[in-house]
Amino acid sequence: MQPVLNFINGSFVEAASQRTIDDVNPATGEGITTIPRSGAEDVQAAVDAALAATPAWASTPLEERIAWLHKIADALEEQAETIAQLESLDTGKPITLARNVDAARSVANFRFFADFVLQQPQQTFSDHGAINYVQRSPVGCVGLITPWNLPLYLLSWKVAPALLMGNTIVAKPSELTPLTANLLAQTMQTVGLPSGVFNVVHGYGPDVGQAIVEHDDIRGISFTGGTATGKIVAATAAPMFKKLSLELGGKNATVLLDDAPLDEIMQGVVRASFTNSGQVCLCGSRILVHASIYDDFLEKFVHAVERIQVGDPSNEATVMGSVISQDHKTKVESYIQLGVEEGGVVLTGGLSKTAPVENVSKHGAFLRPTVLAGLPATSRTATEEIFGPVVTVHAFETEDEAVEMANGTPYGLAGSVWTADIERGHRFAERMDTGIVWVNTWLNRDLRTPFGGVKQSGVGREGGAWSLNFFSELTNICVQQP
Ligand code: NAD
Repeated sequence: MQPVLNFINGSFVEAASQRTIDDVNPATGEGITTIPRSGAEDVQAAVDAALAATPAWASTPLEERIAWLHKIADALEEQAETIAQLESLDTGKPITLARNVDAARSVANFRFFADFVLQQPQQTFSDHGAINYVQRSPVGCVGLITPWNLPLYLLSWKVAPALLMGNTIVAKPSELTPLTANLLAQTMQTVGLPSGVFNVVHGYGPDVGQAIVEHDDIRGISFTGGTATGKIVAATAAPMFKKLSLELGGKNATVLLDDAPLDEIMQGVVRASFTNSGQVCLCGSRILVHASIYDDFLEKFVHAVERIQVGDPSNEATVMGSVISQDHKTKVESYIQLGVEEGGVVLTGGLSKTAPVENVSKHGAFLRPTVLAGLPATSRTATEEIFGPVVTVHAFETEDEAVEMANGTPYGLAGSVWTADIERGHRFAERMDTGIVWVNTWLNRDLRTPFGGVKQSGVGREGGAWSLNFFSELTNICVQQP
């Protein structure tokens, strides 16, 4: 594959240093291509281009920007299969998942915001003989920093509302998954988006991400990634009074009340546990089960987990591919080991040397879906984010205890509760200290709803009007009536 280049001012260019980083397929360990190892100088070039493009883009009528979003969506839709192939190659995720989730949602993000913005009422308030109305203007040049687990899905979730509201962009995708950000840059060039409106700078976080966050002329930062990185981003951006959106890590509970109909819900619970090898920030990695159904659940759950087809991501029948890298596999395995040291029992899966995945490259970062039981709900394994195919299962006696366990982590991103009684589901959901709770479903997303976390899972919300607000500055204009 051709080397990936930065996209600055409408052209593809090398890093100023001319250095590169290898992009590796985690399912085979083979190099795919190289990306620029950029630094502050490249970020400066991107910011210069973005600032030069800002006045014209900001004053482009909204209807025209909506038309651009549709044009981009059309062009991405035509390349949906390529998006899926590139995403699968870069991440090791199954091709079917990349098609159904990554490619489909990346197109949908552009279409959704293009349509949604027209449904927003003009906000006016009248009192004291005056009329107030709210005018939106763009923030300016914004920095968008994204992780590797859902590369184009999460990047387009930010790019679409940012463009729509008249901002120019310096984007930095994860160094582990650059391919679809590059495809998006090629698409912007093909559809003829004005030069400088959308720029991509590749490289490592501390070099490129940090340079974006600390750049004086970048007025907003939308960051999705780990909590530890989020702290660095916040520490840099907050004293500069930048607009800041942080979508961070999670350790989400899947709660099964005593009346949960196990056979009906089992596939939902398995999906919540192991979609994308557990590498979705919303995955339910701690399963809390009422003691009266605990044994029955474990038996059925382990049976279902053992039927997950793990293997070559390009195989249409594969349900779980590799994890993102050998380094990440080592991290996940260290948590499986920690779980055993903390008193847990591996019911299925485990370390790759004892539970190898058959018929895959020996250089691939493969793990079997792993279920650990017998751990205290307060253990490190049960409260720290692993972000891999590992779940812990815990029994509870009362709903109060389940609430305490569900809320007993530093995170507060998402959770799900499963019950035959919807009223109980509502009541339980309202007691969960998270930004999102699903009742009898998981990852059911209406793009108009607020998305984000509390506690160490982040600050702010994305989605619908929350994204439009983040990417605009609001001016209230108050006019005294004659
Ligand atoms: P990460 O924090 O390591 O990296 C995220 C991005 O930040 C990457 O592009 C990285 O290069 C960049 N970065 C690293 N150091 C930086 C710095 N000093 N300044 C600016 N940018 C820097 O996260 P990851 O490993 O790529 O992704 C996994 C994490 O993302 C998990 O914790 C997961 O829960 C989280 N995540 C959260 C959501 C959400 O919506 N809340 C969604 C997906 C993933």
